[in-house]
Amino acid sequence: MQSPVIILGAGDVRLGGEALREPEGAGIAAIEALLASKPRAAVVTEGGMPGFFRASVAIERGVPRVIVPRGALGASWLADLASRAATFDAELYEHDDARGYTRVRPSGRRVAVGAPDPEAWAFAAGDAAGDAARAAVIGLAVDEAWEAAAERAEPLPVDREIEGLPGHLEEIAFRNGDKPVLYLVVGAGEVEAVRARYAGAAVVERAAPVAVERSTGRRAYGDEGEASAHLFISDNLAQAERAAALWAEDSTRNVVALGALMGYPGCCTAAFAALGERGNNASLVYVTAARSRALGAPFHAALNVAVRRVVPFTPCSFGCARAIAWAERVLAGLPAERASALVRALGRPVLYLDEARAVVFEGARVAGEEITDYERAFFLPTGGSPEEAMRARRVLGALLAGGGRLVCGGDAFEVCGAAGTRRILRCAPQLGVMLPFGS
Ligand SMILES: [Zn+2]
Repeated sequence: MQSPVIILGAGDVRLGGEALREPEGAGIAAIEALLASKPRAAVVTEGGMPGFFRASVAIERGVPRVIVPRGALGASWLADLASRAATFDAELYEHDDARGYTRVRPSGRRVAVGAPDPEAWAFAAGDAAGDAARAAVIGLAVDEAWEAAAERAEPLPVDREIEGLPGHLEEIAFRNGDKPVLYLVVGAGEVEAVRARYAGAAVVERAAPVAVERSTGRRAYGDEGEASAHLFISDNLAQAERAAALWAEDSTRNVVALGALMGYPGCCTAAFAALGERGNNASLVYVTAARSRALGAPFHAALNVAVRRVVPFTPCSFGCARAIAWAERVLAGLPAERASALVRALGRPVLYLDEARAVVFEGARVAGEEITDYERAFFLPTGGSPEEAMRARRVLGALLAGGGRLVCGGDAFEVCGAAGTRRILRCAPQLGVMLPFGS
């Protein structure tokens, strides 16, 4: 039997032959089912995020020809898609009835579709560097009135810690047999303890000082930063050595090979490899959220990366069945009491700004970009500096205290509660995305 042509998206299309069509509103499971039929071509019928991410997922899963409607994506998104196609040896075409098919070649131009504008973001972060007060409000237009309100406000309380969770949940995944190689970044002082824990295994060590940029979680390898060790642990020495070698080279091709050695789901590794920019952890959260919405994927609590990274990789969507299964095996490997505390903590919606600023809601109901009702909000503890965290907690405390309804609008965050309506304007780089986990 010849492999089929699939049609992805809600738009209209006229095709000469037979094709399998994505049922409307069926969500990610239906897209996965179509991709599992090993199609010879995918015809995407719409533009915007739904069209872009459908085309991308087809490319990542090895569909050899992907066709998008001419003009529907815009030049820069189309250029990024062409780079993705080149990464996976796929052919990308634009099509309309008047002009037929045109092959789209990569230009090397990349954009982070679904993420805040990286230039505006880098500019704001650079502008606030070394200034905790400004770093704490990147993306928020804090005028004099807000300044005064923040001064008076109770800082948003910090979320409760879950007692007794192991520092590296990846170690459970390794014990579960989900990872041929376990990769840990530890402080130089911790190396001996890790070696003792894995006395029977091969441990390959690479030293690299690492400095972590606070708002993005970006790791900068260089001379500055705290001394740390990168450990590659495996029952198979050759695999540990290969992982260490691939890691040191850091190329797109290696992302796929490394992901396989780490035991990450192939769909998630492929989605990660497709990206032009992979170093900004905060950007990855936005991209995954946008992609999840575009593909109709649920936000599964086990993948609530803002509360706790149960899986060490970036899932291809927050509804990825393979990533969820991976996470659930980790949760099952925890003592029951810890697991249930973690599951409760994960099943809460989050307003995510960046790696240093996120808010989790309790007693909340979510509808799209709106929390229709919440009782309490907590600041998620992060790696940010204490001064930065305190200022962020004051500003967010002034906005969110007391519960109510939160609307994440394009130009402002607005809270309507018992104490009236409060509104804070957003500014470049427009940080803030609702992650409706547990809703
Ligand atoms: Zn996946």
